[in-house]
Amino acid sequence: MNSNRLFLLIALCLGLGLWGYGRYVAKPRLPHRRPAGVTSPGNRRVEKTDDAWQSELTRAQYNVMRGRDTEWPGSSPLLHEHRLGTFACVGCHNPLFSSATKFESNTGWPSFYAPIVPNAVYTEPDGNRTEVRCAVCDAHLGHVFADGPAPTGLRYCLNGVALAFRKK
Ligand SMILES: [Zn+2]
Repeated sequence: MNSNRLFLLIALCLGLGLWGYGRYVAKPRLPHRRPAGVTSPGNRRVEKTDDAWQSELTRAQYNVMRGRDTEWPGSSPLLHEHRLGTFACVGCHNPLFSSATKFESNTGWPSFYAPIVPNAVYTEPDGNRTEVRCAVCDAHLGHVFADGPAPTGLRYCLNGVALAFRKK
């Protein structure tokens, strides 16, 4: 291998390393304040520093919930969880969705047609999609689409890594 090729290889490795660092470490942070007018059940509110979230959540949870990453489709053990129970936010234990509204969307992500109570979550515009966040701790949960089943016609497409299932 001549020195030019070696240089290119080193440059490529550096570039990949920086890209990986940017992807996994320097995530955009969520704003600490929710938009005006947003309420939560019991007006509960959980606010923590980014350092606190980072130490309390696993890396996968943190990247999704505070960094708005998306888990790999089909990766969540909750995908085919159909026992009676409640799906709560991993960050603040806010009950978010009931098993009664869960359906098989065949997307690879746990899907529901409605939150457990209307103010358990709130939405924010996210380009041409609509982001879904926990109303208590502002965690990114996933997105909501208008192609869901009756009675709402909505599909809350969620990251299972952000959810904790409590069996009834
Ligand atoms: Zn939460």
